[in-house]
Formats: sequence, C-alpha cells, structure tokens
Amino acid sequence: MNQVIELIQADVKKPKPKASELGFGKYFTDHMFVLDYEKEKGWHSPRIAPYQPLTLDPSALVFHYGQSVFEGLKAYRTEDGRVLLFRPEKNVQRLNNTCKRMCIPPLDEELVLEGLQQLIEIEKDWVPDQEGTSLYIRPFIIATEPYLGVRPSNSYKFLIILSPVGAYYAGQLSPVKIYVENDYVRAIKGGVGHVKTSGNYAASLLAQKKAEELGYDQVLWLDGRERKYVEEVGSMNIFFKINGEVFTPKLNGSILSGITRDSVIELLKDWGVTVREERIAIEDIYTAYTKGELEEVFGTGTAAVISPVGELNWNNHKMIVNNFETGEFSLKLYHAITNIQYGKAHDKFGWT
Ligand code: PMP
Repeated sequence: MNQVIELIQADVKKPKPKASELGFGKYFTDHMFVLDYEKEKGWHSPRIAPYQPLTLDPSALVFHYGQSVFEGLKAYRTEDGRVLLFRPEKNVQRLNNTCKRMCIPPLDEELVLEGLQQLIEIEKDWVPDQEGTSLYIRPFIIATEPYLGVRPSNSYKFLIILSPVGAYYAGQLSPVKIYVENDYVRAIKGGVGHVKTSGNYAASLLAQKKAEELGYDQVLWLDGRERKYVEEVGSMNIFFKINGEVFTPKLNGSILSGITRDSVIELLKDWGVTVREERIAIEDIYTAYTKGELEEVFGTGTAAVISPVGELNWNNHKMIVNNFETGEFSLKLYHAITNIQYGKAHDKFGWT
C-alpha cells in the first residue's frame, strides 16, 4: 500500500438516532470510503468523502448484468469506550475472492483495511454503546462503465458505508422456525453461491417470501442438484449437534465460507468438541430426530452470531428441536464470540 487516503470532511453532521430506534440498516453515518477503478489507472484516488448519493449513467453495467459484490462486518464498542473490529482481514480476503469469481480486479487488501480503520476512526462517535448494538460495515463494488454489452466492466467504484444497528436479540436468544425448501435453490456448484454477489440475494427472495407465508422465519436451502443435502439457512451457515458431535456442511463450492462459521469451528475444537465438516443429507437429520439424537441446530452469521433453530419442517415432517429452547452449545458459543467482540473476554485467537 503506497497510496495516501484523502479526507474530505462533511459540512453538515447528521443527528444520531436513539439506540431504541436503530433497527437494521436504516441510518448511515456522515462519511464513506471510496476508491475508483479504470483499466488504465487501476484502483486509485482512495478517499474518505461525505456520505452522499452516487451519480451513475443509466447504462452502467451494474444495472443490467449485476456485476456487484459486497461484504458485511461490524465494529463493536467496548465497555471502556474502545472500538473493535472482528476478523476484518477475513472479510477483505473474501471480498477479493468474490471479485475473482465476478471478473472484478482485486483490491489492495492493506489499503482497504487502512481505509476502513481511518473511516471508523472518523465515525467512532457513531458506534452505539447500548448492549448488543454495533456499527454495521458494508463494503461493496459496482461496475460503473456505461455499456450494454455482456462483458466485464472497465470501470468500478468501491465504497464502504457504515450503519449503526440495534441489538439482534431483545435479551435472550430466540429460536426460529425453518422451512426446508424443496423447489427453489440458492446456489449450484460451479455457480456463485460460494461468493457474496448481489444476485444470490435477489434469487433468494421468493423462497423467503414463501416460507414467511407458510408461517416460517427462514428457509433451509438444499443442494441444487438433488435437493438431498443441507447447504445453508437463510443467509447463515448451519450446524447440527447430534449425539454430542457437531456437524456442518463442508464447503463444497455452493456454500459461503462464513467467518462466524470458521470462528465457531475453531472455538468448538478448542473446547475439545468434535466438529465434522461433511456432506449432510436432510434425511439423516430426520432419522437422527426420530431416534431422539438431534440435540441442537443453529445458524451462524455476522448479524445474529448464533441463531438457534426451534423447528425444521421438511416435507411436512416437523422436527421440534430441543423443545424449541436455546441449546447449551448455542448459548455458550454466542457468549464466547460476543464476549470477544465486545472486549469482555481475553481474545486468545487474536480475532479483534
Ligand atoms: N451465508 C450467506 C449466504 C451469507 O450471506 C452470510 C453472511 N455473510 C453467511 C453465510 C454468514 O457469513 P458470516 O459469518 O461471514 O457473516
């Protein structure tokens, strides 16, 4: 990294919302980090600029063929007023991995991390301090070239925007009801499910809507070929505790490599728990359930950290997990991770 980050201060500072009004992704801070790309110049002009609307040509490639990628992470306020980031280098690595798949030129990871740190420093008063709140960080890239041919764009914009967000749980963790989706699929091997590109999320909306109409919170995605193997839950990775052992689908090319997933695996191994990354048939989950061996199910992701699953409905076989209560591992993992994120526990893994 040898580029200097320019700072253009916002003239007007917005009022900060109350912690009780935060919700998710509704409020944005005063500044954003920006980088531009042109084929001849590479990524250039790193700057922190006032948060403002973008002007794009209606023919910009992003509007037509979806060359658009993103990341999601959070900054956390500690009790003594510091601000911590959780494994941000992993998000930047994953962003570059996504770029590769989407034919977007790679970013200088050091420059992005430096830009992020400087942006957070300028916006540190926006990091809320109420229990469970945080500052959500959304890095993203869009293809900006005005052109209607189907090919990679010759120009891009990279931005990082920040949004103070409320606590995911009001007090206790609450188990969710999951509908196992047999028709729609999220991703296929050889496709783009293992990276964070916008179209994946657009493609997931209809199944999510269907699950909600049926009275469920989220969808459990099965593999795109046979609808036999478990992939992900909503936009989270999934874990099963069966007979004392923990199972999670192995990264097979259609599953996103979650940073929370990785952290959960490391923590469990550190606690001496066997974690098996395998291909998991939904039928085997049902069999374990009928034998009384399905002890816990939970999703993992940046937003909720741990989301316990209370019910799985697979072809009208309703599996009630752990009496619809939050399991022991779910709770222990939730506290272990959030305590590191909020600086309440010794960070033995060097994650913050
Ligand atoms: N799967 C998908 C499809 C996601 O969008 C996310 C959120 N980034 C995850 C899993 C969880 O990843 P992470 O733990 O890095 O938030």
